[in-house]
Amino acid sequence: AQANIVAHFLARAGVRGDRPFLVHAGGTLRYDALDRETGRLARRLLDLGAAAGDRIVVQVEKSPHAVLLYLAAVRAGLVFVPLNTAYGAGELGYFIGDAEPAIVVCRPQDGAAVAGIAGAAAVRTLGADGTGTLLDGMGDDTAPVAERAADDVACILYTSGTTGRSKGAMLTHGNLLSNALTLHDLWRWAADDVLLHILPIYHVHGLFVALHGALVAGATVLFHAGFDPDAAIAALGRATVMMGVPTHYTRLLGNPGLTREACAGVRLFVSGSAPLLAQTHDRFAAVTGHRILERYGMTETGMIASNPYDGARVAGAVGYALPGVEVRVPGSPAVLEVRGPNVLKGYWRNPEKTAEAFTADGWFITGDLAEMSADGRITLVGREKDLIIAGGLNIYPSEIEDVIDALPGVTESAVIGVPHADLGEAVVAVVVADAGVTPEGVIAALDGRLARFKQPRHVTLVAELPRNAMGKVQKARLRADYAGLFA
Ligand code: ATP
Ligand code: MG
Repeated sequence: AQANIVAHFLARAGVRGDRPFLVHAGGTLRYDALDRETGRLARRLLDLGAAAGDRIVVQVEKSPHAVLLYLAAVRAGLVFVPLNTAYGAGELGYFIGDAEPAIVVCRPQDGAAVAGIAGAAAVRTLGADGTGTLLDGMGDDTAPVAERAADDVACILYTSGTTGRSKGAMLTHGNLLSNALTLHDLWRWAADDVLLHILPIYHVHGLFVALHGALVAGATVLFHAGFDPDAAIAALGRATVMMGVPTHYTRLLGNPGLTREACAGVRLFVSGSAPLLAQTHDRFAAVTGHRILERYGMTETGMIASNPYDGARVAGAVGYALPGVEVRVPGSPAVLEVRGPNVLKGYWRNPEKTAEAFTADGWFITGDLAEMSADGRITLVGREKDLIIAGGLNIYPSEIEDVIDALPGVTESAVIGVPHADLGEAVVAVVVADAGVTPEGVIAALDGRLARFKQPRHVTLVAELPRNAMGKVQKARLRADYAGLFA
């Protein structure tokens, strides 16, 4: 049977007629244009010499054309490989070497540089406004939706590189569709939903959770090229659903335009990709009347767990395993393991990493340390790679961060382990706080609140924590910055 995920989307689009799919700065892309537009672009990609199963690496600005390019590539049976627009030439060289694509599509200004590192790949350019060699002089012939099996790879998404070099996760048509259908039911997507889309589209969150959600529902997307708090708040007046990373919510909370009235028509706010501070959850509820629904997932698995749609959304917890997704946590805390139709086929051209990532009985090892209540509610307590071992004792940074974050005047913190001659590693806290808060004050306040061996040996105040585009704190960078502290 045809398992190409684009066939599924087009079947849905077929009954939506001239309803808007993407509403963007330059106009509106309607559902009844999707088949034709993705068909023409798919034709163009195949005419470049690409065949089903070939990779297409894409590093372009977020735009409606980029969305069509994604759908066209998958329609043609190609393996779509989107890249973070922040990656420079060196990183791009690594990804192109690894993915070995037949086609590379890049921004017009990068065309010459990319041609120099693209090897045998055909290089085409695409600007946010549709200019560039990809769409220039495109004809009207269309390519059909390629027959694909559920087990065929649709996309390779590279992980964010938070804990090491990014790995290419092979995600199949079956992986993507199962996760989209599960979230459709769980979050009550409907055709009359209007999604405010402010996320990048090279990552699971913006590309799959958000866009697939709208496509499966036949819903409308208010498509913003980036995140501008004023524009987002204005758009909330027409939206029913918003998805963001924690940084989006803290920035919305910093804007006086965020009010109960501004969010009156919204039925669902979703957060993920990084931990949402309980304080942010609570403040958002106080200002808007909405409890943000926090969910948990990763590149390799799509979504794993979600707070309930009905019922208590607990700040600081990521909820329950999704229907059809099995989760186990063999200890308290312990690394969470997952099994289900959402789990990746493997890491691209990396059988060793793939083998390491699965248990002998076939569960995927997330690397995230979690606790699970008797009724299955999951709380993440950090990443295994961030665990600090000081004087032979295990220390979970999140426990210390929670205590520091609760101190008066503190906005947020990141706790890391730094090499130390006696202890192996010593606890260091990097803290963002109001003027008036001092390192000595933080250390004094922790005395009595934390066992002595968990108390930071050193506290540094900074203006902000280093984060990537998905709002993830770059602990590897902090560890490098402070590596010499006790040397
Ligand atoms: P790499 O695997 O290359 O080190 P990464 O794990 O950050 O990078 P992603 O796949 O983008 O790359 O992120 C998945 C991770 O994000 C999860 O393993 C988890 O640590 C974190 N995460 C996702 N959602 C949440 C959440 N709601 N709360 C806390 N952490 C989250
Ligand atoms: Mg990861």
